[in-house]
Amino acid sequence: MAKTLIEPASTSTDELRAMLLEWRSVIQQEIHELLAQHREHYTATHNDSVLDLEDMSLRDSTAEQQLSLLEARNRTRLMLDTALRRLDDGEYGLCEDCGDKIGAGRLRALPFAKRCLSCQHQAEVLEKIARQEVRRDDM
Ligand SMILES: [Zn+2]
Repeated sequence: MAKTLIEPASTSTDELRAMLLEWRSVIQQEIHELLAQHREHYTATHNDSVLDLEDMSLRDSTAEQQLSLLEARNRTRLMLDTALRRLDDGEYGLCEDCGDKIGAGRLRALPFAKRCLSCQHQAEVLEKIARQEVRRDDM
C-alpha cells in the first residue's frame, strides 16, 4: 500500500496524553531544580554578612531571573494541567469557537491551541481591529 502522508484523522488521545504528561514531568523537574537553586541562593545571600554592593546586585539579578523563570515554568505547568483535564473530559482539541476538532498537526505544534486554524485567524483579525480602535480612542 502506498504510504500516505500521515495526517492523522486520529492522533490518539493516549498519544496526546503521553506527550503532555512527559512534558509536564520535564517542567516539574525544572521547577524543582529552580526552587532548589533559589533556596540555595537565598541561604547564601543571608549567611554572608559582608557583601559588597556588586555582589549583592549580582545576586539580586540572579534571583530575579530565577523567579521569572519559575513563573514562566509554573504557567506552562498550569496550562498542561488544564490541557490534561480537558483531555479527560473529552474537550481537549476542540475549537472553543466552532467546536470542531483542531487538527492533530496543529495540536502537536501548539498543544495549548484553543481554536482551529480558521477561527484563530478570525480571532486574530478581530483582535487587531479591536486594538486599533482602542488606540484611536486614545488619541
Ligand atoms: Zn474553530
